[in-house]
Amino acid sequence: MFMSMPISIPARPRRRAAAIAAPFVLIAAANAFAQAPPAPADLILTDAVVHTVDVNRPTAEAVAIRGDRIVFVGSERGALTYRGRDTRVIDLAGRAVYPGFIDSHGHLAGLGNSLRVLDLVGTRSLDEIIDMVEERAASVPAGTWIQGRGWDQNDWSDTRFPHHRALSEAVPDHPVVLGRVDGHALLANAKAMEIAGITNETPDPEGGRIVRDPETGEATGVFVDAAESLIYSHVPAPNKEERRQATLAAVNELLSWGVTSIHDAGVGLGTIELYKEMAENGEFRLRNYIMMSSSQGTLDHYFERGPEVGLYEDHITVRSIKMVADGALGSRGAALLEPYSDEPDHRGLVTENPERIEAVAAEALERGFQVNVHAIGDRGNRIVLDAFEEALAQVPVADHRFRVEHAQVIHWQDIPRFAELDVLPSMQQTHQMSDMYWAIDRLGWTRSRGAYAWRSLLETGVVIPAGTDFPVESVNPFRTFLASITRSDEEGWPAGGWFPEQKMTREEALKSMTIWGAYAAFEEDLKGSLTEGKLADLVVLSQDIMAIAPERILDTRVEMTVLGGEIVYTGPGAEALTKAVR
Ligand SMILES: [Zn+2]
Repeated sequence: MFMSMPISIPARPRRRAAAIAAPFVLIAAANAFAQAPPAPADLILTDAVVHTVDVNRPTAEAVAIRGDRIVFVGSERGALTYRGRDTRVIDLAGRAVYPGFIDSHGHLAGLGNSLRVLDLVGTRSLDEIIDMVEERAASVPAGTWIQGRGWDQNDWSDTRFPHHRALSEAVPDHPVVLGRVDGHALLANAKAMEIAGITNETPDPEGGRIVRDPETGEATGVFVDAAESLIYSHVPAPNKEERRQATLAAVNELLSWGVTSIHDAGVGLGTIELYKEMAENGEFRLRNYIMMSSSQGTLDHYFERGPEVGLYEDHITVRSIKMVADGALGSRGAALLEPYSDEPDHRGLVTENPERIEAVAAEALERGFQVNVHAIGDRGNRIVLDAFEEALAQVPVADHRFRVEHAQVIHWQDIPRFAELDVLPSMQQTHQMSDMYWAIDRLGWTRSRGAYAWRSLLETGVVIPAGTDFPVESVNPFRTFLASITRSDEEGWPAGGWFPEQKMTREEALKSMTIWGAYAAFEEDLKGSLTEGKLADLVVLSQDIMAIAPERILDTRVEMTVLGGEIVYTGPGAEALTKAVR
């Protein structure tokens, strides 16, 4: 299972010289003085309930860290033998410690972008929205576009489409564009319409509508469907500094949820360069396993260059390729073998030529890359498995760890093929939580039994790395944990769970968020468990999710996130904790 690949991949760059020298110093010291204490740790966490996710020592009381590595996991007494004059010791007063969470499928740039845009979901009135826009306008220079999305006039006391007047009076100097929750309409202010050159004479475009005041004929600011691009086409793409700021915000969001590693799905060369530049400057405080986009230019670049593994002290790795075989279930784009149950003439969309998936996979095998293909429908999944099987027959590589991203609906005959081909189903438990309300409409009962089929897959011997697909779902790892073990929503519906036979155990759920994610990135020797020698990435939680009742799981707070031995996030409840350093 852990055979090395026949293709040579670049060695991980060496870290600090001290870390390499330390073991020799230790050995020398141990020989000279049998009782000599170990080299002191930089940080020791004591009085903790530590869930290590290491089968050799599942639980512990304390962890000692030197540099970016864990040097000891075990008893409090054992940890304190690593205490030196400059060691920081934090008493966690019984709090729970876990390996830093690994989100195995998300979109960092997408998250950054969503944080730049005002989140209007759940707003109760236009006035509330205007307040939010005014507040943002006060913090950015005049002329800067302000964007938002998520309003729904059906949630307001006045359920008619809004008019721009009050918004334009409150925010006259910034162009404002606010998308409706479904993306099919927007509200623009006067400044935005002025920039877009909208007048009473502007005609409705084909397939779209400019909503107008029935008396004056003036645009009300609401643009529907194809008319939206009259405004959106004037919104400038974010410049590099804005993208950098957005990335920093996204990284901080992830750290605040205890996520220390992500697998970033579908990243282009320009964005990879930005992340490298930030890492070079020490401001990329997250470990990013990048799945490059499969545009031909990106593939050509990396096929020539080869994988980049463990750059910037294990902060950036580029060794996998993201492809997309079909669409999504909600919009009936997922490719199904049989027609949709609620649209009998339609079997979804295949978005990539299966022969190209096979060709890219074969070349990736030759050049030491992993291939991760989005497939949601049972036809999409079969296309990908067939393509992988063909590529592997041409270029046999034992330890390829190819992945299907989402693997949502799988024909029962294809479920064992994941294990047979050593292909990993990379899944998002919260999609089950979000989709279950309508999934049976799309799929019917029988096919739904093969949907989000975690237990059926685990029983074949595969592991399931867990992701959230952020920003599609919230980064919140506790939602993933809750969905995994209950298959119910936040309110506990349906009682007992949706196809409850597919639930994960708590141990499996935790592994899917940690060590299985590490395995899916060839990093199980580096992270994913709290084990001596591994990276010191861990999270301190306010309560023990392995022990509390399911209905309390979403109340869990992240109190501290440690990345490579550094405390990179402290939650409101933990300030006292870090001050009370012994
Ligand atoms: Zn995605």
